[in-house]
Amino acid sequence: MDANLDRRRLLLGAGALATLTATGCAATRTQSDVFDAHCHIIDPRYPVIANQGFTPDAFPLSEYDQQTRPLHVTAGAIVSGSFHGYDQSYLRALLPQLGPRWVGVTQVPPDVSDAEIASLATIGVRALRFNIFRGRIDAVDDIVALANRAHAAGRWHAEIYADAAALRPHVAKLSKLPQIVIDHLGMTEAGLPVVLDLVDAGARIKATGFGRVSMDVAKALERIAARNPKALMFGTDLPSTRAKRPFMAEDMALVQNVLGTALARQVFWANAVSLYRPDGV
Ligand SMILES: [Zn+2]
Repeated sequence: MDANLDRRRLLLGAGALATLTATGCAATRTQSDVFDAHCHIIDPRYPVIANQGFTPDAFPLSEYDQQTRPLHVTAGAIVSGSFHGYDQSYLRALLPQLGPRWVGVTQVPPDVSDAEIASLATIGVRALRFNIFRGRIDAVDDIVALANRAHAAGRWHAEIYADAAALRPHVAKLSKLPQIVIDHLGMTEAGLPVVLDLVDAGARIKATGFGRVSMDVAKALERIAARNPKALMFGTDLPSTRAKRPFMAEDMALVQNVLGTALARQVFWANAVSLYRPDGV
């Protein structure tokens, strides 16, 4: 057990912590650089695809900048959403514009060439994303095959957006991948035991989307960090497309309150930087 967590648990207790946050008396977050491990830019100059009849509003870089500057976000990972499909043109335009403190996480079709993966790696794409939240997970062997190929061709890791509870039958196979990341704390309370098993096998977990998950976020953060203090990575998930409520600065205060300053600083920066290896950091 991390000493920091122990101390905070003694000082606060879970109930006291919930009260503290609910009444808005959360401690002011220590101001230091933040790596946003999960955000989306939706630029209508590039292809945006309707998903199940839903087309997201534009969220250009200028708006993202405006919202995240007060949070001290100075680096991060731009993630392709379902609405980006397999388009790489927006990332090819955006990543050079953002500079070497930023990386990409993209979606590719199963027949993507190794050369395309290697080419995207040169502009800062570091991972591929599987969005299986709204679909069945019956093609795990295909996921494993593509993830292994992408790691060999571009040193990419695999990011998985799913209800972690649905990953239970696939833990053994997923644990053998070179590196996986689970989005949004695994989404559900029922998924937390699976998330913890994956953390034991080396998975990283995104502390993101607090407004879209169905779980006790504080408890999940605490338990994941207790298993491995290097596992959690913070992200805004802006613009919070289709979330029950959008990202709020208070989400960052919660991370700090639950984990304590030293561990939170790792979650806001070092844990993600060591995984994403941005050239300019
Ligand atoms: Zn997202």
